[in-house]
Amino acid sequence: MYNRCGRTVEIPFIHGRKEKQARISSPSPRVMRKATAIIRSGGIIAFPTETVYGLGADAFNPIAVARIFEAKNRPLFDPLIVHIADLSQLGALASVVDRRAGRLAGRFWPGPLTLVVPKSERVPDIVTAGLDTVAVRMPDHLIALDLIKGSGTPIAAPSANRFGYISPTKATHVLEQIGDRVDMIIDGGGCSVGVESTIIKIDGDRSVVLRPGGVPIEEIEAMIGPVETAPVTAGDPESPGRLPSHYSPRMPVFLASGIRDIDFSRSDAGFLLFRKPEFEVPVERTEILSVDGDLNEAAANLFSSLHHLDKMPIRAIIAEPVPEKGLGIAIMDRLRRAAHRGEGET
Ligand code: AMP
Ligand code: MG
Repeated sequence: MYNRCGRTVEIPFIHGRKEKQARISSPSPRVMRKATAIIRSGGIIAFPTETVYGLGADAFNPIAVARIFEAKNRPLFDPLIVHIADLSQLGALASVVDRRAGRLAGRFWPGPLTLVVPKSERVPDIVTAGLDTVAVRMPDHLIALDLIKGSGTPIAAPSANRFGYISPTKATHVLEQIGDRVDMIIDGGGCSVGVESTIIKIDGDRSVVLRPGGVPIEEIEAMIGPVETAPVTAGDPESPGRLPSHYSPRMPVFLASGIRDIDFSRSDAGFLLFRKPEFEVPVERTEILSVDGDLNEAAANLFSSLHHLDKMPIRAIIAEPVPEKGLGIAIMDRLRRAAHRGEGET
């Protein structure tokens, strides 16, 4: 009943250790009761959202939150998004919610939009990496909302992957990366949006997009007028986690300038294509994000396709760019950051 995408997840046999399979749980009422008890007692749980799988802990328990950083190998300067299930929880996290933030929340929540607002004193510093602002969102996913409501607390949750690696959009992705470091993985099938939330900071008169994501920037501008886009730089004081190299497979990624620029005769490369080309391609080494070139479908398949290519016996991933509009802006942001590490390598 919880699986919004109606997909089932195959559980791989990892490293020959069968007991790891037990760590993925289907969201029965019993499992959800156990999950909320784990959160209340300071544990960490991987759970599905409409964007990517999150790794959550009680946002008001700094020791539980510290376990998230440890499990992910995430640097402490990279703040977390706090997930809420109803608007009253925003009041406990934010010291002020200005009119624009309230309007955006009313329009896009629950949904893939994160608002960065001034934080209340109750929010532990480890959650915000010492900043005086906190990032908040209400996920559009029944399991996530049930987990937050049942736990009776907002849940701080970054993506449930190792820091810097590709975000998980299936329970098996979580299992493969951090399965031995979490108390439970709740299976919700594939994530319907597939890229992380759009993060927007409301700062006096300014509205700044800190990360393009699941809500197209055009839709935000239609509501509150023009927004600024912060460039991606390491050590950016406005959003410390916006590293130029992120969301990366192990394999070097090269971003082509167009489909005609890709050398499909390379037998050591895998190909990530936006849509089905009009000519033959090596099917066994090619992932097509959306046969008909639909950007929403492409976003939903992006990380899963990168995970798939990253497991192949190839030496590089060559990616076709997608149109930079709607969710295409978030897809290109992720591809550029995945490609950043590969630059200059073979
Ligand atoms: P993740 O949940 O892993 O997708 O990462 C959340 C991202 O949200 C971080 O890397 C930061 O870039 C951003 N973020 C979280 N809290 C804040 C904040 N208070 N101010 C600015 N950016 C934030
Ligand atoms: Mg992340």
